[in-house]
Amino acid sequence: MRLIIRQEDLGMVIERARTSKEEICGFLFGVAGEDVEVREVRFVRNRLASPVAFEMEPVEMVEALDEAEEKGLEVVGIFHSHLKCPPRPSGRDLKGMELWPVVWLIVDERGNYGAYVLREGKVEEVEVSIKLR
Ligand SMILES: [Zn+2]
Repeated sequence: MRLIIRQEDLGMVIERARTSKEEICGFLFGVAGEDVEVREVRFVRNRLASPVAFEMEPVEMVEALDEAEEKGLEVVGIFHSHLKCPPRPSGRDLKGMELWPVVWLIVDERGNYGAYVLREGKVEEVEVSIKLR
């Protein structure tokens, strides 16, 4: 399985991470088959407004989920940023990954990124394939 994302979309997430003093977060909408293809990035406010943790603001989160449904897209991933720590799942992220068993894309403010899934309780890295357009 690969996570396919447009360069433009990944760039937008990284740019937001780079310019924020808090973790940023949101959903990746798209279609999941053998590979997971991102069609749209949807930012959701981090209600913790924290540099070390995130929680999506619940009302915005529901709005985002409704939007995905209206567009006939699935939530194929969740993204968030790490500040001054590598883009790998934290202990707290692992709990979130159990609740949301989709691909987790993590970026940092320096432009590094990684994608992960939890499979049978273990974190597996997912290959990210960047589409130029
Ligand atoms: Zn995290």
